[in-house]
Amino acid sequence: MIARVSLEIALRKEFDYSIPPEFAGKVDVGTRVQVPFGARKVLGIVTAVAEESAVVKLKPIIKVIGEQSLVTPKVLRLARWLGEYYCCAPEVALKSVLPESVRKEDAGWRERLFVRVLPVAGEFPKLPKRQQDVWNLVEERREILLAELVTLAGTTAGTVRKLEDRGLIQITSEIAERDPYGREEILPTLPIVPNPAQAAALAKIKAAMDAAGPKEAAAGEAAAGEAAKGSATFLLYGVTGSGKTEVYLQAIAHALEQGKGAIILVPEISLTPQTVERFKARFSSGPLQTLVAVLHSHLSSGERHDEWHKIRQGRARIVIGARSAIFAPVEPLGLIIVDEEHEHTYKQEEAPRYHARDVAIMRGQMEGAVTVLGSATPSLESYYNCEQGKFTRLDLPERVDNQKMPYVRVVDMRQAARDGQGPPIFSPQLKEAITQRLERGEQTILFLNRRGYSNSLQCPKCGFVANCPNCSVTLTYHRAEQKLACHICGHAEKVPPVCPEPKCKNPAIRFAGTGTQKVEAVLAKLFPKARVSRMDADTMKRKDDYRRTLGDFRAGKIDILLGTQMIAKGLHFPNVTLVGIIYADMALHQPDFRAGERTFQLLTQVSGRAGRGDVEGEVFVQAFTPFHPAIQYARRHDFTGFYEQEMEFRTPLKYPPVSRVALLTLKGRNEDKVAFSADHLRRELDKTGAGFKDLVIAGPAPAPLLRAENFYRYQIMLRTRAMSRLSRVLADTVQKLTFPDDVTLAIDIDPVNLS
Ligand SMILES: [Zn+2]
Ligand SMILES: [Zn+2]
Repeated sequence: MIARVSLEIALRKEFDYSIPPEFAGKVDVGTRVQVPFGARKVLGIVTAVAEESAVVKLKPIIKVIGEQSLVTPKVLRLARWLGEYYCCAPEVALKSVLPESVRKEDAGWRERLFVRVLPVAGEFPKLPKRQQDVWNLVEERREILLAELVTLAGTTAGTVRKLEDRGLIQITSEIAERDPYGREEILPTLPIVPNPAQAAALAKIKAAMDAAGPKEAAAGEAAAGEAAKGSATFLLYGVTGSGKTEVYLQAIAHALEQGKGAIILVPEISLTPQTVERFKARFSSGPLQTLVAVLHSHLSSGERHDEWHKIRQGRARIVIGARSAIFAPVEPLGLIIVDEEHEHTYKQEEAPRYHARDVAIMRGQMEGAVTVLGSATPSLESYYNCEQGKFTRLDLPERVDNQKMPYVRVVDMRQAARDGQGPPIFSPQLKEAITQRLERGEQTILFLNRRGYSNSLQCPKCGFVANCPNCSVTLTYHRAEQKLACHICGHAEKVPPVCPEPKCKNPAIRFAGTGTQKVEAVLAKLFPKARVSRMDADTMKRKDDYRRTLGDFRAGKIDILLGTQMIAKGLHFPNVTLVGIIYADMALHQPDFRAGERTFQLLTQVSGRAGRGDVEGEVFVQAFTPFHPAIQYARRHDFTGFYEQEMEFRTPLKYPPVSRVALLTLKGRNEDKVAFSADHLRRELDKTGAGFKDLVIAGPAPAPLLRAENFYRYQIMLRTRAMSRLSRVLADTVQKLTFPDDVTLAIDIDPVNLS
């Protein structure tokens, strides 16, 4: 027998090895192996097992890693699709489906020493006092970790060993599973009776799951390009506070009843202990009891190793995790949930540049599982797919417990800028609202966009923003060259000396924005008695910082919580009655066709933090372009209205969701070489892309952050509906091209970040 192996070193090729007799029966598709390659020993994954090979004189496999094959055939198939669609080498795709600690097996199971009393035969011996004390302790506990015993008894391992020598106790080495949430006390919860909207959504999800059939009938594998029996994708569109999680929990229960498992993806930032507890609590007891495994980047590699193997062994039927949890070896898989499906953190920003939501949909189709995408502000892609009949929409239009949606006021900052000297941080209206909350003992959340500064040009007096005449995106302001440039088509113009708006002509047109630190300082001056806490990447460095600050806020020890994206979602504090968004324009005028969508989502999510208790919430949105549709539709909580106007803008320009985008970025230290290579690539693409009816190629153009880290970057953007086909053409084209040594090319299919 021979095994075909994909090696971890990037060669875009697989190699055959013989399976020596000692490994017979141990090597299967998905097994991790160590094999000789030239003079080296390298790791790889078996992708096929066959009777014979075209190659004579095969080298044998050196070592088999792990008891079970690590990559299941289904996940292997998913990885193959991933490599093809996202234009990356198959070994890179394969690498991403296993956590590093599992792939390398360096973490391994942790063995720990346990101490137990043994039955005493005959008369109990007379012991020295120290030994007697230790024995008493062990006897009382029956079983105790050696390390714990040593601390507790104030003794040494030597003393304990003496008891072992006398045959009074036994010390054994056993696997102690790491449980990252082991210290939490989890109280079981029972299903809540769903309201009519929740019940209707659940009925449809369950019916689709039933159509897939029970465990035995499952595993219907579909041919490439078509969906397996029973797969279906739903968009659960529910306003903030509408009880989406309860729908998830009851759908998961249904999967368990069918003898299947479930994967729940949440954005990394929402993976708070509270979120995890909600899932663990529901399935911690009762007939559907199962382990809930958690996979995310804040676990130690040992914890990740143990959590992963609990899934592989089938002991944990439910997996909750960030992006990469979509590759968890749950089998059979009945349900995939992608919460906050519009979140951009589902996209991996290095190769393989996959989008976990799209991988989830593909996995569901391949394995006959039901996929539920949940959001209060769906991505335009998902909403469009519902309109096209590809997904089914399920609506939760009201908040549970009849809470009202918060009242949103938009504050025109141009007015405030005209009255004072330059734009203030707090408008008089927001200042007044904060004062009221402090007097009433209610809490406030203040939000400032992560960037805190702007790379666009905006007039603070009239709100004018410079846009590209061809692409309808904001022009990027290049300080050093004093020019404005479009990074999609390459259009460039000089920075105007005064605001081009005829009625304005403001000479101080450049408004740079401000950071959270500055806002904190101003807050301290305006409200010297208020207890303010700042939450951003600078203040939340340690693992526990985030949790502690939120704990303090919940306990009422903080009056005003000031933060970035970190506080935008998922938080539920009944005493928060005011939310202030300092500069809504910061998200709005990014050089990206999704800037409006992102602003709409952000404003809706942040607003959703207000009024989660008995008192109605109030939101202040401060903006220099208060009449922008993204702001106005968010103010009215009108997603459909926003969707319709946004589609009117995107359709003629062939932006997603009516088509798909591939972004090619060339990067190097020498600008001439990068620009030359980009032109060369563009000419090749014109030739190879000729077969596509709807292909739009824009660029090359300098990237918005042109000289990031001393690298020059040029981009070419391609748009087409036929992305799977284009991916293959791109892979072929790029294979044939050669670039100067110091110029690198990155291909990003369905990019979410254009800067
Ligand atoms: Zn102006
Ligand atoms: Zn342009």
